[in-house]
Amino acid sequence: MSESNRPLAVGDVIHGFAYGAFGRDHFYCARVEAVGRDWVVVRSSLGTVEFSTFLDLVQQARDEVCPNGKYNCEPGES
Ligand SMILES: [Zn+2]
Repeated sequence: MSESNRPLAVGDVIHGFAYGAFGRDHFYCARVEAVGRDWVVVRSSLGTVEFSTFLDLVQQARDEVCPNGKYNCEPGES
């Protein structure tokens, strides 16, 4: 299993827009707080809690380079 196929896990950082997985207004990096069979809940750097069922998109955003830049990647607390 390659790194890019690793399932989402609590504590993972999801970078930026995440291909719209959290809606059109989501641009901030976020940290995974809970994962279910076909859903994920994250907390963004703004402190907001967001929900998605697009696990493939979320996983893709986790494995890519942060669009907000290395020094602006500030996901919420886990
Ligand atoms: Zn980031």
